[in-house]
Amino acid sequence: MKIGFLGLGNMGGPMAHNLLKAGHELTVFDLSEAAVANLVEAGASAAPSIAVLAGSNVEVIITMLPAAQHVKGVYLGEDGLLAKVAPEVRLIDSSTIDPMSAREVATAAAAKGNRMIDAPVSGGTGGAAAGTLTFMVGGEQADFDAALPVLQAMGKNIVYCGPSGNGQVAKVANNMLLGISMIGAAEAMNLGVSLGMDPKVLAGIINTSSGRCWSTDTYNPYPGVLDNAPASRGYTGGFGTDLMLKDLGLATEAAKQARQPVVLGALAQQLYQTFSGQGNGGLDFSAIIKMYNGAIE
Ligand code: NAD
Repeated sequence: MKIGFLGLGNMGGPMAHNLLKAGHELTVFDLSEAAVANLVEAGASAAPSIAVLAGSNVEVIITMLPAAQHVKGVYLGEDGLLAKVAPEVRLIDSSTIDPMSAREVATAAAAKGNRMIDAPVSGGTGGAAAGTLTFMVGGEQADFDAALPVLQAMGKNIVYCGPSGNGQVAKVANNMLLGISMIGAAEAMNLGVSLGMDPKVLAGIINTSSGRCWSTDTYNPYPGVLDNAPASRGYTGGFGTDLMLKDLGLATEAAKQARQPVVLGALAQQLYQTFSGQGNGGLDFSAIIKMYNGAIE
């Protein structure tokens, strides 16, 4: 298939590589020349602008951009995708943005005659490189079905979530829970260890008891409990505090618009924001345990 790919960063770069490996023909664009050069070396063609990419002979365009303002700029701008793209081209936005912005852009696409789905991902940069991402897809069922062969080249778990924007709804709800549960895991682990428990023994008890969750059994925030968790390598790699902060901002904003309480989500947002403000935005989000115990390295 002929695919246009826009946004070749930490996630988009490896996703685009997997499309090439699956035999798709790629035309790419990014503001970063180095990111484009990396894909061209692997066999992609470079488009000199968004407008040229939109007007090129592609069947599908995928975008993987930092935030809603970039997505709106790229799709709705004067020289943006929707101004130039042919109506039969299918559009897939895999960026993580708020559901309302996703619906706004999809509505504008529909008005131009283009089918569009939101398809945010989870699985991080490791999942992007391995082609094992989870895609949460919002839009028409028929558009989900049409996108499946393309998404399967980049992911393993591809889930239809319902109408436009629902992929983003699933993503923000899951990540809000993750942000909250990591703080809970940090609080409990720090309490137990400070009262005299060995961290590995405590984690073992929790992980066979009712406190068990992904943040305790797969990504435990206490150093030394899990050899391959970021906590055991100085909180490097993994999922950055600032990315978690972004997702919690999306959750609280969506909650405001839906007039729904997210009491713990908002509290979690404040904790990560404080931690980020102290210069820790680049550390893995499980480093939030340092808010409880400054001696943890
Ligand atoms: P990134 O900052 O590494 O990459 C974004 C890319 O978009 C950059 O290469 C940038 O140059 C490009 N870009 C920005 N504006 C552009 C424009 N107008 N035209 C063309 N290119 C433009 O970000 P990332 O880590 O790849 O994340 C992308 C999205 O995926 C975000 O929405 C993020 O929340 C989400 N996400 C990230 C992770 C992760 O672990 N990094 C996991 C899941 C979801």
